[in-house]
This record gives sequence, C-alpha cells and structure tokens, in this order.
Amino acid sequence: MLKSEPVQGFLNPELKGKKMFIDTNNIGEKGLSIADSIALDENLLVEEGSFFLEDLGYDIRFMRDANQINVKGKIKTSISLVCVRCLEEFEFKVNSNFDVVLFPSNLVTSNNISLNDDEMEYIFYEDQKINLIKFLVEQVNLFVPLNPLCTPKCKGICPNCGINLNYGQCKCENSVNELSILFNKLKR
Ligand SMILES: [Zn+2]
Ligand SMILES: [Zn+2]
Repeated sequence: MLKSEPVQGFLNPELKGKKMFIDTNNIGEKGLSIADSIALDENLLVEEGSFFLEDLGYDIRFMRDANQINVKGKIKTSISLVCVRCLEEFEFKVNSNFDVVLFPSNLVTSNNISLNDDEMEYIFYEDQKINLIKFLVEQVNLFVPLNPLCTPKCKGICPNCGINLNYGQCKCENSVNELSILFNKLKR
C-alpha cells in the first residue's frame, strides 16, 4: 500500500495520518468504499474570500470500469462566501451527491488526444493514485455558485452612500425621487 505523501500547500496539521491518496489497485471487483471527515485548507477553495466553516464529511464509492473509475458519493460541509451584492460574508452549506468518471492521465498523453471543454471536466489521476483531497475540494468548488448571494432577495448596497440596504433604507432614494420629480416638472 502506498504511504501518503505530503503535497505542498495541501496539508494542514490535522491532515497528518489521514489517507490522502487512493491507490487504484485497491479498488477490487466489488469496488472500494470510504467515509470520513477531514479539516481542509481554505486556500484550496477557488472562490475568493471563501473558507471552510466546518470539516468536510464524505462518503464515497469507487468502482472500476475497464480503464476508467466511476466515483459516486456524498459530500457535506459548510463554507463562508462573500455576497456579490452586499459584500457581506454568509454561510453556504454544501450537501451534495456526485457521480464522476476518472481517467488515468496517461490515457490522454499516450494517445495524444486533444480535449474539448466537456472532456476537460473529467478528472484525471496519475500513477494509479487518486488524490483524495484534490478530488473532494474539486467537488466542493463545483457546487459554489458563480455569483454567490446571501439571500436571493438581497437588496445590496446603495451605490450612493454605501449602506447595506438589507439593514434599512438610506436617504438617497428619497433625494433621487425628489430629483426625478424636479426633472418631470422641468419637462412640462
Ligand atoms: Zn447580500
Ligand atoms: Zn444611500
């Protein structure tokens, strides 16, 4: 069995002793199931200003299918995101199922296959090892919305005075209204 190797920038101290790589040789006829929870480094998240609020729990099943490996499972965690409208941090819960196909990376290089965008979504593994941390974080990143909102009805901030309109009205709207009334009067 492969010893887990430290990958720079991937580890926080709590990960020591946790199995970070899945040896694909251990995926037998009946597949391989793993379930655990791990503390992850926030630097792994793609979204700027985001970080993990709790450990990432996972329950995964690896199944071999000729050259490819099918991975089905669940992830559950909570991360902090910044709302694009009001710029406040909010909690975003990830509780999702996934169903992914993994291919050995040498399949791509040896056959000189060029990949289209759809195929690029597949994840590759190298040297018969699946980087579990990388895989799990990738799944979390996939579930992060493109434009995170604290609530769908977030009112955002006033472009004039910068107040968070979710906490109350500012005076700006009134003065804008007064201005438009004035304009309307002028038009007459
Ligand atoms: Zn917001
Ligand atoms: Zn305002």
